[in-house]
This record gives sequence, structure tokens and C-alpha cells, in this order.
Amino acid sequence: MLEKDFSRSNLSLEANLKSVIGNGISTQFWVDFWIGTGPLKDCFKDLFRLANNKNATVSEYFQQGSPGQWVLQWVREPVTAQELQQVCDLQQLLSGVMCTNKKDGWVWKGAEDTPLSVAFVRTKIQAVDYQNEVEWPLWNKWISPKINIFCWRASMNRIASKESLTHRGILVGDTLCPRCGMCEESTIHLLWDCFFAKSVWWEIFIWLKIPFPVQVSSFQQILGVALGMNGSNRWKKLIGAIMQVAAWEIWKARNEKIFKERNVHFIRTADVIKEESFLLVSSRSNLCNLVWDRWKEFNIRDVML
Ligand SMILES: [Zn+2]
Repeated sequence: MLEKDFSRSNLSLEANLKSVIGNGISTQFWVDFWIGTGPLKDCFKDLFRLANNKNATVSEYFQQGSPGQWVLQWVREPVTAQELQQVCDLQQLLSGVMCTNKKDGWVWKGAEDTPLSVAFVRTKIQAVDYQNEVEWPLWNKWISPKINIFCWRASMNRIASKESLTHRGILVGDTLCPRCGMCEESTIHLLWDCFFAKSVWWEIFIWLKIPFPVQVSSFQQILGVALGMNGSNRWKKLIGAIMQVAAWEIWKARNEKIFKERNVHFIRTADVIKEESFLLVSSRSNLCNLVWDRWKEFNIRDVML
């Protein structure tokens, strides 16, 4: 009966029962839901593929000691940008979490203090409701979710920059920006302060015919640069979309350098931003009459009215 209610309400037992970690012996590290927002195999798909034992228990990955530490074993070491990003996120999630000598227990997600019973689970099914996650205020439907998510993470300083990987103990060695070699590679450095990023942004601001910001205190401020300017909402949304595409392409150029040793010229990146934003906006927005010949000069005032 309960099972039926579950399927009707789209609630998943698996996704809502959460293990409370004690000694970690009866909880599977990847498969069970015990930390974060769901089973780690779903939250860290790339790492799950690399795990040498998909059914490992939590206790198998935890090495007792003072302090204890997490030691994950792979089929091969994580190397791609995406894998490293996931290692970085997983490390953050696991930091401060330890196994104890108590037995593992089970609770309902979000109601960890209430003893688990059928009656309790039933009230949860009845109360099923779409919970709004914290929203990214600059979410922009004219560009892809992937780019929105990247910018959202960057604004929280949660991208795999060298600085953040080092900070979490994942990377050892130099933390210098691979492009200029002069500063630590932080999020704001690689997306804004570095001369490569600055040169790209300079091209983009000229193209968009808007003033280059003099004082920038956060990455989010750059993305929302149009919000404080005069202009229609459509125009602000369009500028916001292009800002996010620009940040994404700067990040991609950075990854080309790190992972393929390829130096992308800033003019090339600026051109890709113009092309990519044209393709995205013309297919996703309700703006009609966007024509490349005019877009490349950003001569589209009439479209914006
Ligand atoms: Zn740099």
C-alpha cells in the first residue's frame, strides 16, 4: 500500500530514506542516500564510473585515525575537468564527516530528528510538494542550463580553479594561473582579473557598446552589469545572457590551456562568444528577426524595442 502511494506521488523511497552514518558498515557509499541531496552515484556520475568498487560501504572508504580521512579508490585517477570538479565537490561534501563506533540508522530526509514509522512516511506522502530550491537570481532561459549552472557555481566560488582545488587538498604544487603565471588562479582571477580574461571582456564590452566596469568586487556583479543600466528588460536579459556565455567561453579557453596545452587567442574567444550567443539566443528567445550580419555589429536596437 505504501509502495503504491509512493509511486502515485512520485516520491521515491530510495531517495527519501537517508542513512545516518555510525560505523558505516551497513551503508553503501555510492548507492545509498546518506549525505548531500541524494545517492552519490547520482550526484557524482563520473566518479561513480571510476570507482573500483561500486558497492563499497562507507566504512571501506573511511580510514580511522586522528583525524580520520576519506580514501577513495579508482579504476584510474580522475583527470578531466569534470572529474576534477566532482572530486573537489565530493571532498567538500565529505569534509568534517566521520565514522563513529555506533551502528548506522535510517531517517526520513529532511526530518532527521523524527523516529521513522509508517505513519510518519504516510504524512510525508500526503504533504508531497514541489520544493523550490534556492534559485540563481540570474538564471537566463535564453542560454543553456549548463552555462547557467557554471555561472551560478562560479559566483559561489565553486568551480575547480587551482586555488579551490589546493584549498581542499586535491592539488599539490603551484597554484599560479596557467595563462599569466603571475597570480594565484582564483575564480575572480581566471574569469576577470587575468589579462586574458580582461582582453576578452574588453572586446565584448566594445562590441556591446556598454562601458567597461571600473570597479568590480564580485563575479556576479559582472554578470549583472546591465541590471543597473538604462534599457528595456529584453535588452538587460540579452546582455545578461551574453555575459554568461562570455564567462563560459573564458573558462573553456582556460581548460584548453590546462588540459590540452593549447593557447587560444583572446580574439578567437571573443568571436566564439559572439557566435555562440547568437546561436543560443536566436533559438531560445522570443526575439524575432535576429540576423547574424547585424548581430556581429550588435546593431540590433530595433529588435530590442
Ligand atoms: Zn592569469
